[in-house]
Amino acid sequence: MLKIDSHTHILPRVMPKWSEKFGYGGFIHLEVSRPGFANMMRDDLFFREIASNCWDAEERIEQYGKAGVQVQVVSTIPVMFSYWAKAQDAADLARFLNDHLAQIVRDHPKHYVGLASVPMQDTDLAVEVLREAHAAGLQGVQIGSNVNGLNLGDPRFAPFYEACEELGMSLFIHPWDMMGKADMEKYWLPWLVGMPAETSRAACSMIFAGVLDQHPRLRVLFSHAGGSFLPTIGRIKHGHACRPDLVAIDNENAPDTYLGKFWVDSITHDPRLLRYILEMQGSDRICMGTDYPFPLGDLEFGQFMEDMGLNESARMQLFSGSVLSWLGMDASHFD
Ligand SMILES: [Zn+2]
Repeated sequence: MLKIDSHTHILPRVMPKWSEKFGYGGFIHLEVSRPGFANMMRDDLFFREIASNCWDAEERIEQYGKAGVQVQVVSTIPVMFSYWAKAQDAADLARFLNDHLAQIVRDHPKHYVGLASVPMQDTDLAVEVLREAHAAGLQGVQIGSNVNGLNLGDPRFAPFYEACEELGMSLFIHPWDMMGKADMEKYWLPWLVGMPAETSRAACSMIFAGVLDQHPRLRVLFSHAGGSFLPTIGRIKHGHACRPDLVAIDNENAPDTYLGKFWVDSITHDPRLLRYILEMQGSDRICMGTDYPFPLGDLEFGQFMEDMGLNESARMQLFSGSVLSWLGMDASHFD
């Protein structure tokens, strides 16, 4: 059975020292730490150590191939978004990342699909970089759950969503720049509490602002099974009904009417939650995802779904059908 992983990250092995190139700090670069490993550094501050499977396309193919996965949808690591930087600089950085992804896709068309990065701090420039990425063969685009604190329902992003529709570029929403992070550094809370909340923030903002109605051809996938959005949909729906003066000001449609109109990945780490989101979304709107190669991801490549006793058609949808429909691609592309 064809298996396509909708949620993985990759970086170029060699990147410019952006801070030197642009003349100010805050950007991420890589420094070799020991053979097969590199440190992601923000200026002189250590951010995270990564291994060669974070940049080596061939090594990755071998690793996920062993688990029966044929294709990875690859996107950058959200810390590279650089929405805080000068827009033109963030555009240069995004173009560098996109060129790298496009090369990987050209080299291994049966094993990789690429999602672009764009400088969302400047919508016109984001659309320009999106068009270039589409022309270079990337299939979609990954954006953060907020843009310098602005929510994704903000009207300024409408031309970007329009361009995604026009070009048929799939949209992947990834949590980053987590709300409240300064107040909860301890216990990895930005990742464990902030990330699921960020994804719900993105979903609520887009739905309440009517983005999915204004852009009916937009194909959106929310990371990490939609974060806390689906588990708290009852509360969100009730809030919309009981305080329309606060919630239903731009869109009167109940939030649960959007279930199944967007995609989520399967990264739940829990078959009980997966069963629940299957009920909410349907198997044709849940895409196998792992967050490979990071340890908080599902590095057993969806084995928990194989152990759930799902029927063949649900398995096929989870492992490839849903992600193909999100990407607007046909399975024959990977024959
Ligand atoms: Zn991720």
